[in-house]
Amino acid sequence: MSFRTAGIHHVTGIASNPQRNLDFYAGILGLRLVKRTVNFDDPTTYHFYFGNENGSPGSILTFFPWPDARRGRQGGGQVAVTSFSILPSSVGFWIERLIKKRVEFEQPAARYDDERVIAFKDHEGFMGELVAHPDVSMQGGWSAAGVPAEHSIRGLYSITLWLDANELTGQLLTNTFGFELVREQGSIFRYASGNGRPGTIVDLRCVPGIWAGVMGAGTVHHVAFRSANEAEQLRVRSELSSLGYNVTPQLDRDYFKSIYFREPGGVLFEIATDGPGFAVDEPVDALGQSLKLPDWLEPRRFEIEALLPNIRIPLELRGPNA
Ligand code: ZN
Repeated sequence: MSFRTAGIHHVTGIASNPQRNLDFYAGILGLRLVKRTVNFDDPTTYHFYFGNENGSPGSILTFFPWPDARRGRQGGGQVAVTSFSILPSSVGFWIERLIKKRVEFEQPAARYDDERVIAFKDHEGFMGELVAHPDVSMQGGWSAAGVPAEHSIRGLYSITLWLDANELTGQLLTNTFGFELVREQGSIFRYASGNGRPGTIVDLRCVPGIWAGVMGAGTVHHVAFRSANEAEQLRVRSELSSLGYNVTPQLDRDYFKSIYFREPGGVLFEIATDGPGFAVDEPVDALGQSLKLPDWLEPRRFEIEALLPNIRIPLELRGPNA
């Protein structure tokens, strides 16, 4: 094994209405819109990136808001639950906020010795959790939309895959990605890479005979794991190929380089480089404020802007200096 991922890089979900997606993740959860661009494979639709103050790898949740997307359904072969990190002192703030914003959620529950978990769903059924843990970083807070930096979501905490069988996925995580099995409780197998801190955790929930997930609005499209650089990414690519996986070539996503393949449980995995990051085409202060296009689409900007749905970005989302 030559690779030890630093953890989750981003999670990408599917949404329908772009405005409602923005209003929920930036307006209610208070994430920073760190990039507003288009789906490189379909430039008439948006690709939104949400994250922490600087849009660090590991803090990123992205969405393809496809206006015509039908509602999907969580099931086997999917990342069913996406969990976000908050500080233990923020649990009360979030309960109050979710009530006020009429978000569907469950009362906080203790998990293992050290997690307090608030499970919620967005308006399309996307399943999320706010996980309070003492190891969540104090850094990276973003203050906007009525969420003060101290209580803000710091990034991804973990993901939970629902699988019909977990063995092969577990082997891939340990043998090729550098994860370790750190806990086994009932049908849930917890893997962690590196130090096991927030952002490095993958839970495999094994439910034999589970119905298959249906891709659509409210579900996760894929999860990306971090690679330190392109050379490492290419080494993992050849290792995966030699194991028989059908891996894409290295693709340039402007903010990182990516490779994709489907893991044995059916989930689409990506490996994304940490660099160059979201400040490569606009200053950190202005992240997300204007529509960014890759160079090869710039000549079509006028046409693309005319085809994209209109969205309104409230001033309160622009942060403390707006
Ligand atoms: Zn991705």
